[in-house]
Amino acid sequence: MPETLAALWALGVEIDPRHGQKFRGICFAQDGARVVADFPQGPGIGLRRPLLHERLIARAEECGVQVLWNTPVSGVDAESVRVSRGKIHARWIVGTDGQGSRVRRWVGLETTKRNRQRYTRRRHYRVKPWSNYVEIYWGSHAQAYVTPISSDEVCVAVMSERVEHSSFDSALRELPELNDRLGGAELSSRERGAVTSTRSLRNVQRGNVALAGDASGGVDAITGEGLRLAFRQALALADAMAMNDLSQYERAHRVLERRPIVMGNLMLWLGRNPRIRTRVIRALQSKPDLFARLLATHVGQGTPAELLSTGALLGWQLLAV
Ligand SMILES: Cc1cc2nc3c(=O)[nH]c(=O)nc-3n(C[C@H](O)[C@H](O)[C@H](O)COP(=O)(O)OP(=O)(O)OC[C@H]3O[C@@H](n4cnc5c(N)ncnc54)[C@H](O)[C@@H]3O)c2cc1C
Repeated sequence: MPETLAALWALGVEIDPRHGQKFRGICFAQDGARVVADFPQGPGIGLRRPLLHERLIARAEECGVQVLWNTPVSGVDAESVRVSRGKIHARWIVGTDGQGSRVRRWVGLETTKRNRQRYTRRRHYRVKPWSNYVEIYWGSHAQAYVTPISSDEVCVAVMSERVEHSSFDSALRELPELNDRLGGAELSSRERGAVTSTRSLRNVQRGNVALAGDASGGVDAITGEGLRLAFRQALALADAMAMNDLSQYERAHRVLERRPIVMGNLMLWLGRNPRIRTRVIRALQSKPDLFARLLATHVGQGTPAELLSTGALLGWQLLAV
């Protein structure tokens, strides 16, 4: 997403568009209906995660970070981190160990304000991207999103609240238009599955330990916001460490997660309410600038007042369709 690229840039990581595929914005597709909007701040870039990681590792090493590969952390205490070869003294400890974070458990930060999980699977297909947009296909029980990642490859992720609806067979049966697009294209990676969570923690720091990334909460994968949040949290955490005050990070974290959680909940609500969703897509088709305004809010370019006025306009439009 463009805002993720901006966060990466702030961390000193530049992504060359040639390493992936540019996309202009988002498209919603359902039963032959389509509605598209461009990102207000320029294109996003679809790319494979290992390429992104290469860039992150190179930047970390450039900053003097010593990375200990194949060295699982097995415990933390007030002043150190335990690994197989002994203890490593630490002024600060940052748990970035993902959704199932053990650091979170070890330091007693498990208490959640909300936690909702969905099941996801992803595949890469060897096929020329047919759209300049990330497409979100809405089915009765599942959604699929398609990201162009090179001139001859797309990534397809399917997601559902129920595990039996999250398989590709089940989702593609619900989404014949997408099934036709893929047209039996060859797979270019092994299919993988994951759980995606909308989780918000009461606290993300205690003593000299802070959590960041999915360990510190998270938004559903359909938002495409997980990485941006992690990068922005990293920047906020660095500022808080410089001020010797992790509570400052906790406050910044709360502000950062607010909008993606609201937008994620809106998407999940649309997913669960097919009749309302159909009317929303029809309303957005007849007023495409409304979709552009919603997308601008999603990517952080709108104020809460603008979101409210867009919501009111959408409500008005819903009455008309
Ligand atoms: C299907 C799917 C599609 C998604 N698509 C997007 C997208 O398009 N854009 C986007 O921004 N986000 C997307 N997300 C969300 C994104 O993947 C996550 O938000 C992001 O990976 C979080 O990064 P993280 O580093 O916090 O956690 P993770 O990526 O989970 O990394 C945690 C790391 O910690 C390591 N670790 C765990 N325990 C230990 C230990 N004890 N010692 C040492 N290391 C340990 C793990 O090996 C792992 O490498 C998607 C998620 C899913 C499921």
